[in-house]
Amino acid sequence: MKILVANIGSTSLKWRLFDFANGGERLLHKGGFERVADYPKAIEDCLAQLRDAGALAGESDLAAVGFKTVIAKGVTGCVFLDERVLAAMEAYNGIAPAHNPPYVTGIRLFRERLPRVPLVGLFETAFYQFAPEAMMRYAVPPSWHEIGVRRWGFHGASHKYIAERSAELLGRPDVAERVRRLYVERGRTPVNDPPLRVISCHLGGSSSVSGIRNGIAIGNSLGMSPQSGLPHNNRVGDLDAEAIPYAVRTLGITLEEAQRQLSKEAGLKGLSGVSNDIRDILEAARQGNANAQLALDVFVASARHWIGAYLFEMGGADAIVFTAGIGENQSEIRAAICAGLQGLGIELDAALNEATRRTEAFISSAASRIKLMVIPTNEELVVARETKRLLETTKN
Ligand code: AMP
Repeated sequence: MKILVANIGSTSLKWRLFDFANGGERLLHKGGFERVADYPKAIEDCLAQLRDAGALAGESDLAAVGFKTVIAKGVTGCVFLDERVLAAMEAYNGIAPAHNPPYVTGIRLFRERLPRVPLVGLFETAFYQFAPEAMMRYAVPPSWHEIGVRRWGFHGASHKYIAERSAELLGRPDVAERVRRLYVERGRTPVNDPPLRVISCHLGGSSSVSGIRNGIAIGNSLGMSPQSGLPHNNRVGDLDAEAIPYAVRTLGITLEEAQRQLSKEAGLKGLSGVSNDIRDILEAARQGNANAQLALDVFVASARHWIGAYLFEMGGADAIVFTAGIGENQSEIRAAICAGLQGLGIELDAALNEATRRTEAFISSAASRIKLMVIPTNEELVVARETKRLLETTKN
């Protein structure tokens, strides 16, 4: 069974083709285009590349195309992308303006080009559908809540991957199996005692932290929109609700300009004044740039804030996992996040930490009560696996 996972940006198309033949999971092809002006042509060129590489015989060789969709009104989980679901995505364009419109357009183009191939979406909110209500509500009037002003949580595919893989590496196949079947069994797969508590830190261009108890997320630092939580590469992260009206009035800018600045000129880029890439910021900080150091310090403080929140909420943790571009590669950031926490049973092994890049590893010291781990995430594989499961469960 071959499943294509298409990652749609407003001007980019990236893809991975997986083959699940004979019970395996094989990546057959990956590629992408940036600065796409003609999307139908990009889809055509993607299919041509897959054929030329011998990865795909033709359209009929494709069991489905899976998409890492972000958010829809009244829809989550892993679902077929019919017109009802696309309309539900459009209804929340205002919550994810950078993501939903290009996805809906791209999905319609895929449907025109591949009318006989099922199109499937795994929503980034799916992993949080079983989180306790108290962790997901904002204290807003009911009318606000009804239009979707609540915590949704994002990066669901990534945190689900970490939930499953960390459970395997921690010797808890029961929890891993629950994560695998989460959207089919709705969290009802039994697990054994003691509970497994994992804090997953997805630190990259966009960052979030999730608390995961027995394979089920209890929350995520991303709230109503992907604009919240930790500071991101050039997006602000958490901000007081009064800040925007105050800045609009005081700076004499429009609401749209305020939104643009908070999504393009803020975050690590805005704080550092150097770059939105943490490698450049680290280099500038090493050379004595105080604003670059401040950006790093704010990022680390925010990560610790959210890790602390889930540690407290779960009454402790068995493991803290680092993943994504920064989490997998930047030992200095991991060290800063874990600094001075021996009293909480959190202690890195400095040599293991420094040696670990983009590979699975335990990086805690022997004395650390809480295991510290690096696990490279694989969001596309999660989309492909869930797409496969949806095809199989609807067939039966
Ligand atoms: P992501 O969104 O997961 O691709 O992460 C992007 C961020 O991770 C960038 O801002 C980089 O600062 C950082 N990053 C990605 N790759 C590396 C690497 N090989 N070494 C150090 N940092 C990296």
